Amino acid sequence: MSAFSDLGLEPNICSALEELGFETPTEIQQQAIPVFLEAKHDLIALAQTGTGKTAAFGLPILQNIEMDNHSTQALIISPTRELCVQIATDLKKFAKHQRGMRIVPVYGGSSIVMQIKDLKAGAHIIVATPGRLMDLMERKAVKLQNVKFAVLDEADEMLNMGFRDDMEAILAQTPSNKITGLFSATMSPEIRKIAGTYLHDPKEITIGKKNSTQANISHQYAVVQAKDKYTALRRIMDYYDDFYGIVFCTTKMETQELSDHLVRDGYSADCLHGDLAQTQRDKVMHRFRHKAIKALLATDVAARGIDVKNLTHIIHYHLPDDIENYTHRSGRTARAGQSGISIALLHIKEAYKLHQIEKLAGVKFEKYLIPKGEDVIHSRIKNYVDLFTQVQPKDESIPKFKNEWIWPLMQMDQEELVQRILELEVQKYAGQYAQAHDINVEERVSKSKSDKSFGESRSGSSSTKRSFGKSNGGDQIRLFINLGKKDQLKYDELREVIFKHTKVSGRNVRDIEMKGVYSFFMTDPESADRMCSIRNANFNGRSIRIQNAEDQKEFRERPSQKESSKSFRDKKSSKGKKRR
Ligand code: AMP
Repeated sequence: MSAFSDLGLEPNICSALEELGFETPTEIQQQAIPVFLEAKHDLIALAQTGTGKTAAFGLPILQNIEMDNHSTQALIISPTRELCVQIATDLKKFAKHQRGMRIVPVYGGSSIVMQIKDLKAGAHIIVATPGRLMDLMERKAVKLQNVKFAVLDEADEMLNMGFRDDMEAILAQTPSNKITGLFSATMSPEIRKIAGTYLHDPKEITIGKKNSTQANISHQYAVVQAKDKYTALRRIMDYYDDFYGIVFCTTKMETQELSDHLVRDGYSADCLHGDLAQTQRDKVMHRFRHKAIKALLATDVAARGIDVKNLTHIIHYHLPDDIENYTHRSGRTARAGQSGISIALLHIKEAYKLHQIEKLAGVKFEKYLIPKGEDVIHSRIKNYVDLFTQVQPKDESIPKFKNEWIWPLMQMDQEELVQRILELEVQKYAGQYAQAHDINVEERVSKSKSDKSFGESRSGSSSTKRSFGKSNGGDQIRLFINLGKKDQLKYDELREVIFKHTKVSGRNVRDIEMKGVYSFFMTDPESADRMCSIRNANFNGRSIRIQNAEDQKEFRERPSQKESSKSFRDKKSSKGKKRR
């Protein structure tokens, strides 16, 4: 008897699992499968991605489906299209020996007509994203009155993405006596509230520590100047010959720019973000899964639910503002018990966030030193020597080699031959790396101010100062924003608007001087970089502009209110009138 059959799963399901190479149930499967099989209690399961959640709810649901009954008996809701497709694909594999089982994924970005056709052909189980399911409900293309199981997968992310109302509307259409499973990587008060409203007397299981990341991930951080982040990324990719990972970026534009740079510099990279059409996303994911792409540049939302095996690295080009996203990001590696490395590339000013993550996500970061030029060369040579020693010459290939090739080599003694072979390889990388300087920045921990925050660095953030010209007050930059008192904004509301469009925390918007139609504030160079690169952000229909105050000619000399209003009015009358 397999350990899966001990949990009460039937032979046809167990043999499908055996064929998939699942030998023993994961922790969450051991705990959740009996609860769902018995179908007497609702379930709250706190577990990170990659722990085997899909099988934990999927297997007992499959076993409880009445095949002769063609109505929809189970509904699984997931936040993203990728996760939706992933769940449906997994379920189909588990149901390989349940002939006639109909599992239908429905998600946005794909033809609704085709999906309606699929649903009409019958769906024992529907796997859906909330938005598309709402559309289908409005068109009366789904019937949920016979649903016996409802699963909210990655419920925390659905809330983050603003699907709360949709989730509630969907649940309201399902029978009240169904069994509901709520799966979430984190337990926030909001999730508790949803559970309190929609789950009855639920059993609760927690896999690992609450809000925690997986144990088999090594969490590391490196500190470099902002201008060296791209170099750091390249060095990591060059150092690890087998690099295969996701690089998390803050904005769609950043994913695109970094991917363009990497491709231009000869790496196999591509990006995944919300603006891509579904077919483009599928293409990128197909290439990534088949390792035609070694580095996938992605935003948090786009990468949610991606299940790609054997990723070696997760790189955080910036740390996420939301700590829960750190858990989700690093959970992309170390899937199904494998190990993985998560490296945060930090500017000195971002280092304080590490401690918040350590506290809330229960991880311990270790310092990672970006490889120096000679480290990269050594690593490449080692890989080359390993490959070289593993080559098995085929007997028949010898006659194919012409004497004029073999002869010059035969003339050399062994030492010379070895030197030349290695030198040739060294020369490949020497151009780029022989003179490459150490880009690591040393940070020291300041105990005085906030007991755990990182203090000033020796080389600090001079880089971003360079990109911003003069900065005011140490490492702080003075920025201009074209919103002010006349926009009926209070200080915190201005911070909120800035956060909404730049994801820079309000904490980093300091010393606001609010004027009539514009404001100044101070921020750190890293945040300034992000804020000044916003595009297409609007407030009440007006395009938001954030700039270095130094570049804002009419305000550079900190004019009096009167003068500055005048110069702004002047400007308005010439070209800015339409904007307001
Ligand atoms: P999930 O958390 O459902 O996304 O699963 C993460 C990965 O673990 C997927 O690639 C699954 O195929 C794999 N997996 C799930 N359960 C098991 C198991 N019991 N044994 C081996 N692999 C598993």
